[in-house]
Amino acid sequence: MHYLDNSATTPVLREAAERAFQVMTADFGNPSSQHKMGIEAAHILKESRETVSDALHVTPGEIIFTSCGTESTNMALWGAARRRKKGHILTTAIEHAATLSCCKRLEQEGFSVTYLMPDSSGHISAADFADALQDNTILASMMLVNNETGVRLPVEECGRILKRRCPEALFHIDAVQGLFRVPLTPSKWACDVMSISGHKIGAPKGIGALYLKKGLHLSPLLHGGGQENGLRSGTEALPNIAAFGTACQLRAASFAEDVRHVTALKESLLVGLRARLPWVLVNGDGEIPHVISLSLPGCKSEVVLRILESDDIFVSAGSACSRGKESHVLRAMGLDKARIDSAIRVSFAPFNTDEDVKALLDGLEKASAALKRG
Ligand code: PLP
Repeated sequence: MHYLDNSATTPVLREAAERAFQVMTADFGNPSSQHKMGIEAAHILKESRETVSDALHVTPGEIIFTSCGTESTNMALWGAARRRKKGHILTTAIEHAATLSCCKRLEQEGFSVTYLMPDSSGHISAADFADALQDNTILASMMLVNNETGVRLPVEECGRILKRRCPEALFHIDAVQGLFRVPLTPSKWACDVMSISGHKIGAPKGIGALYLKKGLHLSPLLHGGGQENGLRSGTEALPNIAAFGTACQLRAASFAEDVRHVTALKESLLVGLRARLPWVLVNGDGEIPHVISLSLPGCKSEVVLRILESDDIFVSAGSACSRGKESHVLRAMGLDKARIDSAIRVSFAPFNTDEDVKALLDGLEKASAALKRG
């Protein structure tokens, strides 16, 4: 099997799965219970929070566990909106559906929203960001790494501009595709809230986290027992939380080596494409080697996907969340329809190998021959 769809999700790391199993079957107490098992569970929760906070270079008290990146983003955006009740929100047209759908709903609630457009290489300009700010901007929300093109957005510069021009506004960064792709330093980016998700780094699905800057309060989406500092009630998903901690520990230990390895995989894919399929187009100019968008003009992406799948090679057409719909990211970049309709996304994880790249190149050659290209 050649799994090259790691921006959609990743297999759970064996150590993380084992940790989850241990917590499910042995250390299964409720962290709120007063007896020994509860105390042990609370200890596991504390340790996991410390590990996740290390990954973001923040303090453990600034981490709130959620069920996924989408929940974290909803908490951030609805929480920020409820603080101010009305005003302007600045985001980009290339965000994940979690952000875009929230923004659409907030528009229905009376907020005004500006969606910044990328250039044809997929980049968002910090100058455009500065120009779009308004006196009543209450929130800016921006992804760190685009999930289709691997483009890195200028969060550092935008955070600085936002705080200078609108000091009361909150800055949310969706770092779901950035975790262990680039070092995360929300405190250096004037970031108030940041979303991350476990299943993109080898933890199970169903676990995410929100960084909330110390001293800041957001109104919660869930009310109940007051877990997670009252911000996210509900008994903590301790097996997932512990597995997230383990995945963070492992990925942190091999971070630099992983980036080198994935960079080499992307380079060998590009070299192979130039030699064997020179007409294949690369969409966007992504800095992050983990994600690359390719177009095979004349070959419908769904058909290419099926041909690859028949050889056990798995990639996406656009993002997994777009479910066959035209990519809003590539459309916003102004690419033509033939290019959008034939786009596939290849996304690497550290476990991928040169054999995966070779299989993909063979598969693309086969697909293009079958579809009479090349
Ligand atoms: N943000 C980005 C950039 C993503 O790529 C994703 C998932 O693909 C999400 C948010 C949502 O994360 P989750 O699947 O954990 O809800």
